[in-house]
Amino acid sequence: MTTVSAYAATSATEPLTKTTITRRDVGPHDVAFDIHFAGICHSDIHTVKAEWGQPNYPVVPGHEIAGIVTEVGSEVTKYQVGDHVGVGCFVDSCRDCDSCRAGLEQYCTNTGMVGTYNAVGRDGEPTQGGYSGAIVVDENYVLRIPDSIPLDAAAPLLCAGITLFSPLRNWDAGPGKKVAVIGLGGLGHMGVKLAKAMGAEVTVLSQSLKKMEDGLRLGADEYYATSDPDTFAKLAGQFDLILNTVSANLELGAYLGLLKRDGTLVELGAPEHPLEVPFFPLAAMRRSVAGSMIGGIAETQEMLDFCAEHDVRPEIEVIEPDYINEAYERVLASDVRYRFVIDTASLRS
Ligand code: NAP
Ligand code: ZN
Ligand code: ZN
Repeated sequence: MTTVSAYAATSATEPLTKTTITRRDVGPHDVAFDIHFAGICHSDIHTVKAEWGQPNYPVVPGHEIAGIVTEVGSEVTKYQVGDHVGVGCFVDSCRDCDSCRAGLEQYCTNTGMVGTYNAVGRDGEPTQGGYSGAIVVDENYVLRIPDSIPLDAAAPLLCAGITLFSPLRNWDAGPGKKVAVIGLGGLGHMGVKLAKAMGAEVTVLSQSLKKMEDGLRLGADEYYATSDPDTFAKLAGQFDLILNTVSANLELGAYLGLLKRDGTLVELGAPEHPLEVPFFPLAAMRRSVAGSMIGGIAETQEMLDFCAEHDVRPEIEVIEPDYINEAYERVLASDVRYRFVIDTASLRS
């Protein structure tokens, strides 16, 4: 086992603090890598604040992890020392169920996916995430980061990027399709960029117009404030697909009214309380509400390669680890443009 520095939450109310954790020895199928950058996802905040249930403290969050391989196990065939690699939201799954065999490991029906943190690995030990100096992961759950994507920009793709790429692909976003993205945060801004790169027409639905200039620069065709009631009248019945990335509970009824007949609202945000879906705006136009969770390993690799090819990069603010708690406050205040990425250099030494 090796010891590495990390930032951990020890309770729902205390700030994250610097600590040390251990990483397992490199097994035959394992890849060990130095973590260079880790993104801050709103899911990290929901988890450490116990909004999704009581986590197993101490929790080292971070599931947008990018780094450089330092050691590979004797049976590893996919990676070598020096490769640029990443890890997203899960580090294992059963590998045998229909979902795993279909490359949809995030929907594993046996063991469920093994989360990158706040889960229990095959070795029976709690998993710990990317706010740390190094990690050891089975090669089948490691992604290859294309050379043209810098590691700091690659990190947010591993969760925010794939979480938007997967539903855009699944619901056939592309030329001739009108897509709306609710919330211009970490996920939302990737939704705008990816939908645009796929050729769809994109509208941002944000609480206010204060980020409008950014939204249009990122590729949105239109930008509306949801605080303005006229928005809902004006856009009624317009969209094929709406991707809701908001971390809080919204009144979905108003948004369902913006879908065309047979349109789908995909819930990506994971708020603390259950969603309320009113009958009439749903059934009246045979609309659907769906959910979608991240993406499988193969699809995540496809997304990374797509981003390399289409020049899609997140907009990031790189921070030092001692800024994590302040960054959390800013994410909660929707004051992030558009993803905080931790430079973990000081955790490697
Ligand atoms: P984020 O950066 O905080 O973005 C969320 C955005 O939602 C904010 O920037 C804000 O956009 C809007 N918003 C926040 N509070 C709001 C409120 N009370 N009312 C209306 N709009 C509000 O968060 P994120 O990292 O993108 O994550 C978003 C959500 O997705 C979280 O719940 C996270 O846990 C979840 N998530 C799900 C998956 C999945 O697989 N489905 C994966 C990753 C994350 P505006 O300022 O533009 O309004
Ligand atoms: Zn995430
Ligand atoms: Zn499985």
